[in-house]
Amino acid sequence: MEIIDGKLISAQVKAELQIEVDQIKANGGKIPHLAAVLIGDNGASETYVASKIKSCEQIGFKSTLIRRDSTSTETEVLEIIDQLNKDEDIDGFIVQLPLPAHIDVDKVIEAIDPKKDVDGFHPINIGRMAKGLPSYISATPYGVLELIKRYKIETAGKHCVVVGRSQIVGLPMSILMQRNTYPGNCTVTLVHSRTQNLKEICLQADILVAALGKPEFITADMVKDGAVVIDVGLTRVVDASKKSGFTLKGDVKFDEVAPKTSHITPVPGGVGLMTVAALMYNTLLASRKEIYK
Ligand code: NAP
Repeated sequence: MEIIDGKLISAQVKAELQIEVDQIKANGGKIPHLAAVLIGDNGASETYVASKIKSCEQIGFKSTLIRRDSTSTETEVLEIIDQLNKDEDIDGFIVQLPLPAHIDVDKVIEAIDPKKDVDGFHPINIGRMAKGLPSYISATPYGVLELIKRYKIETAGKHCVVVGRSQIVGLPMSILMQRNTYPGNCTVTLVHSRTQNLKEICLQADILVAALGKPEFITADMVKDGAVVIDVGLTRVVDASKKSGFTLKGDVKFDEVAPKTSHITPVPGGVGLMTVAALMYNTLLASRKEIYK
């Protein structure tokens, strides 16, 4: 059993990006610039945005944080997006989700210029990804692909079971794993809360991607011997023994599942760190105008 070290790989990706930024600076080029829009005071969102801004600083990207309180109207948020779309110095930007309930998330995402949609959530980027055309790939699935690649995990002909069908993780993950490329060429099954025989289907997985947001849902009796297990789940569970008051839990019961696997991602220290690294990579692509010439 090998633990897939997201901390190590994300540090490698960031170091590679830093070298690129140093070269851009040496050549007098434009420094990649990422903006983040944070609406409201969701604790987890604040942590995620802070780590994105910190990563920009580490790599040498420019970053801009736009914060508004949870009473901001949809119109106000759409105005911010319009300004970011027009701002020539901003290469890419993200709107941190979830948004307050009174704001229509689809309307907000569709307002983002696909050329600057480094989260890869815009329908144009999702459609292009599905067609195998150049596109921004949403950061979490992209991070998972990078882990698979860097650990040289064989994917062709394997059965990949993705648990969860969200627009930002499960659905794109399932599309990416069936594409005719590496990583890909899997036979993919996408399961969700209405799936019957979920355990039996998970037991058939050579590669099991858990992205449902239910702490320790995947237990040893659901995993085939030698499977690759990717745990995307990240839930804050109350823990009075911790200074923060919570512990981060994945969707996989790590201690009992790990011994059965060939590779497994821990939580924390797995997919989460790769998500930020992948966003940074997308920002570099945006500044190089590599996806949309
Ligand atoms: P989401 O939008 O809540 O979607 C969860 C999906 O799981 C839904 O498709 C749901 O099915 C399915 N599901 C829920 N309970 C299930 C059950 N008992 N059996 C089978 N399927 C079930 O969540 P998300 O945004 O994809 O996030 C999933 C997890 O990944 C969360 O813990 C989140 O915090 C984490 N996450 C981590 C990162 C990272 O950087 N590591 C990034 C994004 C998300 P239905 O569609 O039928 O409701």
